[in-house]
This record gives sequence, C-alpha cells and structure tokens, in this order.
Amino acid sequence: MENRRKTKLTEVDRKHVWHPFTQMRDYPAEDPVVVERAEGPYLFDIEGRRYLDGYASIWCNVHGHRVDEIDDAIRDQLDRVAHATLLGGSNIPAIELAAKLVHITPPRLDHVFYSDSGATAVEVALKMAFQYWQQCPDPRPEKRAFLHLTQSYHGDTIGAVSIGGIDLFHKVYGPLLFDHIPVAAPHPYRCSFCESEPGCNRGCLSAFEETLAQRADEIAAFFVEPLVQGAGGMLVHPEGYLRDAAELCRAHDVLFIVDEVATGFGRTGAMFACDREGVEPDLMCLGKGLTGGYLPLAATLATDRIYDAFLGDYSETKTFFHGHTYTGNPLACAAALGTLEVFEKRDVIRNLQPTIDHLSHGLERFRDRPHVGDVRQCGFIAAIELVANKKSRRPYPFEARIGHQVCGRVREKGILLRPLVNTIVLFPPLCLTTDQLDEILDAVYDAIVEVTESDG
Ligand SMILES: *Cc1c(COP(=O)(O)O)cnc(C)c1O
Repeated sequence: MENRRKTKLTEVDRKHVWHPFTQMRDYPAEDPVVVERAEGPYLFDIEGRRYLDGYASIWCNVHGHRVDEIDDAIRDQLDRVAHATLLGGSNIPAIELAAKLVHITPPRLDHVFYSDSGATAVEVALKMAFQYWQQCPDPRPEKRAFLHLTQSYHGDTIGAVSIGGIDLFHKVYGPLLFDHIPVAAPHPYRCSFCESEPGCNRGCLSAFEETLAQRADEIAAFFVEPLVQGAGGMLVHPEGYLRDAAELCRAHDVLFIVDEVATGFGRTGAMFACDREGVEPDLMCLGKGLTGGYLPLAATLATDRIYDAFLGDYSETKTFFHGHTYTGNPLACAAALGTLEVFEKRDVIRNLQPTIDHLSHGLERFRDRPHVGDVRQCGFIAAIELVANKKSRRPYPFEARIGHQVCGRVREKGILLRPLVNTIVLFPPLCLTTDQLDEILDAVYDAIVEVTESDG
C-alpha cells in the first residue's frame, strides 16, 4: 500500500513538478526525498525514513519543525482571518510584527515594507534606493548604478540577478540586466589582493574605496550580504570589513543596504549580522528565517531618511508604487511573531553560543584532510571547501560533482545537506543539540574521506 502510494506520487512528481535549481534530467535517478512530516530538526519521508535537516530546509528553518508556539500562532490566526490586504488598509499581526522588527533591528530602521520572498525584499530595496535619489530633498537622479560584491547572491528575480555575481546562475541573463558595478569580494582563501601574502592586506577595501572615489556620483547604493556571502560558497568576510565598508559608503554618500535574508535571525550568533559590527544600514532586507521557516514572508526596513523622500502631496506621485497581493499576510506575520516569541522565551541567542563553540571545535579535524582546502565558519554556519590540489588550491572540476557525491553519502546516514558546488555546507536549525551536531560532523567527515581519499 505505502509502496504503491510512493510510486504514484514519485511518478507524478517527475512528470509534472519542475524543481528549482535542479537538472530535471538527473532528478529521477537521484531517488529524491519526498517529505511527509517533521518533528524538531527531523524530516520524515513518505516511507517513514528519518533525516536530520542539516540545511534547515534551505537556510530558513530556525527553531526546528512543528514548534508549539509557531503552530499555535498560525492556528489562532486562522480562526480569525487568513488574509487581508495591506494596500491602503492593515491587519493586526502585520502591525504587531512591524513594531517588533523595528525594536530588534539596528537603530534608525523604523519603517517596515512587507513582501513574500528574499528576492522581492531585494527588489523593494533596489527600487526604493533608485527612487530615493530622484525624490530626496537635494535630488541626484544620476545616481542610479548599484555596487555589489563579486560572487554575491541576492535572489533570482531580474533586479536581484543584476546585482548578483555568480556566473553559474547569472551569466545567461546578462543582456537583461541593469547598470551594476562589481567589486572584489573579501574572500581570504581566494583573494586577488593577498593570495601570495602572509595575511590580509585590506587590498579589497582599498579597491572598494577607489571605486567609490571615482564613481560615487553615479552610484545609488552598495548592496552586501553582511559577514557571509551565502550562495557564493559561504564566504566569510574578514572582521571589520562590514564596518569599514559602511563607513566608506557614508563618506561618499552612497546608500548602504544589507541583505540579511540568510544571515538574519540568530544565524551568525547575533540576532543580525549587522549587530556584530555595530553597523546601521539605510535599508535592510529580511526573509528566510523571519517566519522560522514556516511561511513565505519577507520585509525591507527603511530609515526616516529614505521613508521621508516618499512623502508628498498625492499629485506629486512620490508614492512607492509597489506591492504584492499577499503583502503582510496575517498567517505569515503570525508565524513570525511565534518565531520571535521562541527567541525570547528560550533565550535562543545566548543558548546557541556553546553549540557554536562546539561546532568550531568539531571543525578542527577537517583541516588536515588532504582534499580539504578551506574550512569556514561564522556563527552557526560552516563550510568545508574541497579541492583537487591542496597546495595549489586547484578546485575539483565542475563535472566531478564532488560536493554532490559527499552529500549523497551523508544522506545514506540519514542527514540532508545541499552543497554549493565543491563546498559542503552545514546550516542546521538553531535548536540542534551538540549530539545531533556531532552526528552531522561525523557523517560529513567519513563521507569526505570516502569520496576524496579512496583510490580510483
Ligand atoms: C536566499 C537568499 C535570497 C533570496 O531569497 P528567496 O526567498 O529565495 O527569494 C536573497 N538573498 C540572500 C542572501 C539569500 O541567501
């Protein structure tokens, strides 16, 4: 019976569901996990097999699955109203959540604009920054280009792709994109400035400053994933980079926009990555963990300076003409309120610290393996970059699918991970115990040895 059901569902899935970031020709052969239910950090597939959710259901789950506070918040809201529009009106969870977000985010971010995904939060920030320079008290409409880091990722809509720097995903859309200026990512392991030097020479910041000095007149804003560039390979920035970049932008009158879609909500060990370097952005994008990984919701937070530029007589048309049908959806906002309640009630950020230390310790033994090139960590994110040649840092060829091979072995041990090309990424829910963390680390270690050190 169960097997018949699985066969039927799998058949329909292969025939009719087009999966994101998935080569559909390979998909059927990979015996994809079809999830039926979950509990805490575990997912259960349709045959009852249990998996540890080592990728937090793609970087969004925070407190685990089936969390009482979040389940209850959604159920309570469902008994009242599932959706009510924010266009010209409001709803209770959207109001309460805005107050909470303003309170917990860095100072000066006092206005919350809701949308549905990380990419839309980024589109909103792009349009706000662009329009700001046309409507601010001393307009500078020539400031319309966007500065971003190489290997950056901000989502898959065309605006977000314009400020993206991952060739594998973005190159094909080149002709569709608007003005953007890439600057070198501060990535110590593969840095064009200090590769052959004993340590960081801050060459990336000098280049950044030079670009600002030459081109600030045409630049609306700098977009950055603070502290960690996620999809680019979990590239961890050197300490102080974020703070210094923010200061340089301020000095050159370029808006500073942080994309905390992946780093927000405790992931880096602080509530927001910005908190770790005392940075106060002009705009902040939130998504992924905002609802604890339950429902699609995103937010773009803005300062008075930005917000005020959109105020005017109705006929001046300074209005921000942007919105989505489900903007500020009450069920999603209720899930977010439940998520924040858990942060407070369980003192999650403080209790996470020992687990982060445990992770640092657990990563040490990976460094000596002959095909581990770099081990990176920021808070509760870890990345292990595998290389064909450790000395020359030569990557494995793309076709070798080395990351995929390692994660395949790990899956056999009941743990789900998704690599970024040759980099193995650990991004589990924050509720993970140290024992569960050890289970992941052991499985990854063994899989790396098996895949990269076996002969033939
Ligand atoms: C995932 C991600 C996005 C896109 O979010 P979606 O909800 O997938 O649209 C944007 N920025 C960063 C840094 C991300 O990691």
